[in-house]
Amino acid sequence: MGGTIAATAARGGAGYVAGVLPISRLLPDVQGWLRVDGEQVCNTGSQAVTYADWFRLADRVQHLVDGAAVDGIVVTHGTDTLEETAYFLDLVVHGEVPVVLTGAMRPAHAAGADGMANLRAALAVAAAPRAAGRGVLVVMNEQAHEAWDVQKMATTGVHAFASPNCGPVGWVRGRDVGFFHAPSPRPLRVAGLSTLPAQAARVLVLYAHGDLDPSVARAFVDLAPDGIVLAGVGDGNASEEVLAVLSEAAASGVTIVRASRTGSGRVIRNVEIDDDGRGFLVANYLSPQKARILLMLALTQTRDRAVLQRCFMLD
Ligand code: GLU
Repeated sequence: MGGTIAATAARGGAGYVAGVLPISRLLPDVQGWLRVDGEQVCNTGSQAVTYADWFRLADRVQHLVDGAAVDGIVVTHGTDTLEETAYFLDLVVHGEVPVVLTGAMRPAHAAGADGMANLRAALAVAAAPRAAGRGVLVVMNEQAHEAWDVQKMATTGVHAFASPNCGPVGWVRGRDVGFFHAPSPRPLRVAGLSTLPAQAARVLVLYAHGDLDPSVARAFVDLAPDGIVLAGVGDGNASEEVLAVLSEAAASGVTIVRASRTGSGRVIRNVEIDDDGRGFLVANYLSPQKARILLMLALTQTRDRAVLQRCFMLD
């Protein structure tokens, strides 16, 4: 898919250009261990990945899973939105074949480049029979993460990826792979979508902060979205003035999901905010960016708020 793992040095500067090298140039020599074939779905910085790219990728992955000719699938991807593509695939791809996303925090020409090590580790996980049936995994820095929890939590550094709620699900050392716990439940699985219906695609993320001007919330509502995810302060919170705008939107049919900008932990119903009275949903453990993906997909299935809320619960 591109990213730093497929980067080349920028001409005349210290930087680099992500998403340049074709997959054929990235495949490691794993003769005597694995047979690896590469396929280019797109080649871009992941900040530019689109829904169309997601669906093209999901389609190819599902095709390979259904064809039963592969033991595992690795997707190389830019790290900026890697967690979003991983979670999207986790919700739409069906099957037992391991699907593993990986990337690089440093380009291949940098000292301490991590791309090839990550790719080999991802191949080891994808080839591991015990990775089957675990949904989509992300492998970075010798750790395996579940798609729902993994986040890029630092702008630089090979340790940038973490699972802030439940920790890494597994580890990789060379060709050895192990898992710490059973796969987490995935309450929503969506099949048969080849694109997002227009109304479901319109889910916005509103970022809260001290003294957020309620007219910003009003401007979001005026865009006539089907959903708004509040990246709230603390336990998914915002000022009464902002919540009043969102309550009004909920009453007029917009699905409002309270998530948290804190980076970890649950947003729980009806603690400081009367979610029942206001018609709000909560994101539970999902980050705002993942709550948005889940809501977009769930809205293709139902508008029933109780059913939508259950899609966010892990138990
Ligand atoms: N912004 C680029 C991307 O996400 C490069 C960052 C990276 O891959 O680490 O693809």
